[in-house]
Amino acid sequence: FAKLLRQAGTLLGLRFAAPVAGRLRRGLVCGGVQRTGAKMSEQIEKEIQEAQEAVTKQGDTVRSLKASLKDGKAEKAEVDAAIQKLAELKITLEAKQKEFEKATGKVSTQSKEALRAALAGVLERRMFYIPSFKIYGSVAGFYDYGPPGCAIKQNMTQVWRNHFVLEENMLEVECPAVTPEVVLKASGHVDRFTDFMVTDAVTGECFRADHLLEGHLEALLEDKKNPLSPEKTKEIRELLAGVGELKQDSMAAALKEYNVRAPGTGNELSPPFPFNLMFKTSIGPKGDMVGYLRPETAQGIFVNFRDLLYYNGGKLPFAAAQIGNSYRNEISPRAGLLRVREFTQAEIEHFVNGDDKSHPKFESVADLQPLLYSRALQMGEEKKAAPMSLREAVSRGIIANETLAYFIGRTWLFFCKVGVNPARMRFRQHLQHEMAHYATDCWDGEVETTYGWVECVGLADRSAYDLKAHSGMSKIDLTAFEKFPEPRMEEVVRVAPNNKQLGAVFKKDQKAVKEALEGLSDTAAMELKAKLDAGEAYTLTTCEGQSFEIKPGMVEIKKVTEKVTGKTYTPSVIEPSFGIGRIMYCMFEHSYYTREGDETRAVMGFRPVVAPTKATVFPLVQKPALNELATRISRDLTAAGLSNLIDTTGNTIGKRYARTDEIGVPFAITVDFSSIEGDGSVTLRERDSMAQIRVPQSEVAGVIRALVDDRTTWAEVAAKYPAQKAQADDE
Ligand code: AMP
Repeated sequence: FAKLLRQAGTLLGLRFAAPVAGRLRRGLVCGGVQRTGAKMSEQIEKEIQEAQEAVTKQGDTVRSLKASLKDGKAEKAEVDAAIQKLAELKITLEAKQKEFEKATGKVSTQSKEALRAALAGVLERRMFYIPSFKIYGSVAGFYDYGPPGCAIKQNMTQVWRNHFVLEENMLEVECPAVTPEVVLKASGHVDRFTDFMVTDAVTGECFRADHLLEGHLEALLEDKKNPLSPEKTKEIRELLAGVGELKQDSMAAALKEYNVRAPGTGNELSPPFPFNLMFKTSIGPKGDMVGYLRPETAQGIFVNFRDLLYYNGGKLPFAAAQIGNSYRNEISPRAGLLRVREFTQAEIEHFVNGDDKSHPKFESVADLQPLLYSRALQMGEEKKAAPMSLREAVSRGIIANETLAYFIGRTWLFFCKVGVNPARMRFRQHLQHEMAHYATDCWDGEVETTYGWVECVGLADRSAYDLKAHSGMSKIDLTAFEKFPEPRMEEVVRVAPNNKQLGAVFKKDQKAVKEALEGLSDTAAMELKAKLDAGEAYTLTTCEGQSFEIKPGMVEIKKVTEKVTGKTYTPSVIEPSFGIGRIMYCMFEHSYYTREGDETRAVMGFRPVVAPTKATVFPLVQKPALNELATRISRDLTAAGLSNLIDTTGNTIGKRYARTDEIGVPFAITVDFSSIEGDGSVTLRERDSMAQIRVPQSEVAGVIRALVDDRTTWAEVAAKYPAQKAQADDE
């Protein structure tokens, strides 16, 4: 793992191996499940819960005793004894958690829930994000980002822009969220962007059918009091794996068979019915033009394809990108930022000739070994992702082509850059039935969290579907032309519709039929010719899905040899689609840890590049000369583009660190008397190692800039400057 990380660092031209690896080791890692006595693990889980409750209770006692000590109502000895007891209880808790992990290979639900609750406390207290419209009781699925949340989101999108848009010379666009119906009709969203919903037959409350079924089946599998037969277990597992793909009637049958009831009330449920997830609106004062809030940013790119191709000098391949908000009226928003109704997407459409999906930069990522969870591994016994080089995955045909693999590699590197633990991310290939009929290959970039594996990025080879759909609806040519280096003599298929006959038979549909005939691929046209030559009829389907019977005499098809200068084709598209909020949440979970031996000291171990505030500046004590120097250093940091906080509250240094640790400030500068009277140096402390060095005040902003930009590592900086011993009250 450390080797992989170094490899990522080298490829990115970054220097992050030491600090990230050190921090990630502290992250919680869920390993594969070893089947050991279920009873035993249940018993340990119970003990963990009790130990957790005891720690929480004792933590409260310590806090109130500390407050009483300040008011002179408690003795120091009493507080010390309570702290000592808290430390002992934590040791017991940790031992129980370790015991559980050892026995099962998993992180216990208790510690997952405790971690989630503790993290939620920090995120809300420090206003990373909070429910929107809170004073009016909030609306599910909407969140406001507070100051650190805004800064992190901004940093993350900037890293994304640099990593993808800049690196690949992508063409960035920004399109409106309000979209006229015709666009989303062409893309298929008006007709098919649905989830199945069920309602409580008595109260009318709405639920997502697949979520209810999933929850119910999982509960059946976990019900220790009513164990299932091995056959039933197998049947339920198989059903669970395909819940997301069930058709309406199979969903209805499964809900009925397993007697799924409304949560909370236990009432009967309505049969499942499709619910369109788009927010509908009307455009203009008359209200007669239907519009929707876009459910994805991708369509804005497709509808601009012709102009983008022209902008790019008619050359392919090229990629366009868009960062912006998308809207989905989720039936049951849940899990904080993971499933919301308004979220920021960052999407790429890489347009390429379908005949050649090689990528000129594939070599640069070919030796990366992300965890790949291929179809074969998902169907196999172990059901576990395994590391594999992208080179091997392409050469063995596991990943369909180099371009798709290239983006998988670049996505993996992006995750590393922003602080997602590479040991807890994987790329899961869609099973055949999960993919749309037109898709060639799809992989989800998934990250492991306390909620399970979360899809953060979808990477899909969508063939030429999108451009063909928009071309069909808009009647605008969305093809590209590839000029051959030399003209060639080629056999081409010529399709000549007989307008008179078509008009007589199809009347108002004549135009649509003619266009469909002219749009046939060479293979389809030759199939049609074979049928007509045999005196048979041929069923022609238009882009809008209408079918027409083509009979002999309606069209003439022949093969001719011609001099051709190039080829016209509808480009294929490879689409990586990122959800910024989901990646942020996963990164929050992977960054969170507590200081060794003190459960109450939360640290958000953000990578400096995404950290909301890069440095804090403290005067050691409250003195005008020290405050003045601190202000000057803060100005230097600002001038270097480094967000910083200056703290002259006079709190103990330990207390100040505790506050800044919670918002993940990676570096702290302390100015003391030797900064003004001695050698002029200041103390620079690194958050995760808590190591301190002395740096000349004129160099400190430059050092932090280089650390934030990943041009150097803390280890390199620490080797260059003298170490400073931590003072007793520093931590
Ligand atoms: P999709 O178009 O459904 O493949 O979504 C693309 C990406 O958008 C996903 O990988 C997620 O990261 C993100 N995403 C989709 N739906 C939501 C949602 N309701 N809340 C937050 N992020 C979402």
